[in-house]
Amino acid sequence: MQSFYRNTTTEDKKISHHSQRELKIIQQCDDKTIRHNRTDYISFSDNDYLGLSQHPDVKRAAIEAINRYGTGATASRLITGNHPIYAELESKLSQYKQTEAALVFGSGYLTNIGLISSLARKDDLIIADRLAHACILDGAQLSGARLMRFKHNNLLHCKSLLNKHRQNYRHCYLIVDHVYSMDGDVAPIADLRSLAEQFDCTLISDDAHAIGFIKPHHPDESAHIQMGTLSKALGSYGGYVCGDSDVIEHLINHARSLIYSTALPPATVAAASAALDIAMKEPERADKAMAHAKYFCNELKLAEPPSPIVPYIIGDAETALKASEILRTHGFWVNAIRPPTVPEGSSRLRFTFSTLHRHEDVKRLVSVMNAAIKPSLL
Ligand SMILES: *Cc1c(COP(=O)(O)O)cnc(C)c1O
Repeated sequence: MQSFYRNTTTEDKKISHHSQRELKIIQQCDDKTIRHNRTDYISFSDNDYLGLSQHPDVKRAAIEAINRYGTGATASRLITGNHPIYAELESKLSQYKQTEAALVFGSGYLTNIGLISSLARKDDLIIADRLAHACILDGAQLSGARLMRFKHNNLLHCKSLLNKHRQNYRHCYLIVDHVYSMDGDVAPIADLRSLAEQFDCTLISDDAHAIGFIKPHHPDESAHIQMGTLSKALGSYGGYVCGDSDVIEHLINHARSLIYSTALPPATVAAASAALDIAMKEPERADKAMAHAKYFCNELKLAEPPSPIVPYIIGDAETALKASEILRTHGFWVNAIRPPTVPEGSSRLRFTFSTLHRHEDVKRLVSVMNAAIKPSLL
């Protein structure tokens, strides 16, 4: 019988037995508890750093939007889907980022695909950090531009690529994650901006894990174009671009993932808008998540974390999976992250800390790490 999926490629073969993925059914509760197969766990794996997906005001905003506008947007934003909550959210986003304009997309993934493929073209060069998010690479591929990658956070390597190749291309886009999703470290945005200016490039930052944690830089020291997601610290769904009005106008006219996809449901946009208000008004939520991350790192003698994402590098995929299973037997849900999401040989436990965690939870996590995980790695 003919197979419905594409023939096995070398890329597929890399997904060995210990990297096989599966979808588990998970129920989120209103604190950091998640339920799987009738067992409760404390999650240190989701991206709800500020606990806003469960916030009563955010839920209320979503419900009000449904009552007022219905459950679905029913069409693309360019047809009849551009309900009034969009303008409200976009104005808040551009104010927060101090940019001329903002544009909300269907998701962070759709944002990068649409943004990069509508700006860059065949005669252009894209230089991205080696650890840049998958959807940046997908957007780059879709654009047809030449893609090169520099060693992670290595400005010298980035500059040497620019020195060697910049003059052979029409335009050049430097693209980085602001906070790296699997490593939690931060890109040197101000330095990258200077480099971009020096070589007449456009700097694009992916702020997916930065919003709510890294305060916007002065406009002259931030990326020319800042994209991000509403689905992590803001606890909702959707993506956005903040930048100059001419960029936003270009995207409205050319970004295919915006033009040819249905607008987000009103409830989703209203939730993101309410969440953004709370994130701005209550910086102590981010402070608490950071305090948990710092305590954890300090107790385990890891470097001080610049974000609430803390990788615990193990090495091979099988051992990382085993460590994740051990944590589960102690009531903690911490996913093992394996290739191809992270480079070969750098499988890890990825911990994320949230304002909703209690200090006791983190303390117990530390003692399980010391008593059960560390010895299992010897
Ligand atoms: C999660 C993530 C995205 C995708 O955002 P979604 O809204 O989940 O589609 C893009 N870039 C980075 C760096 C991310 O971590």
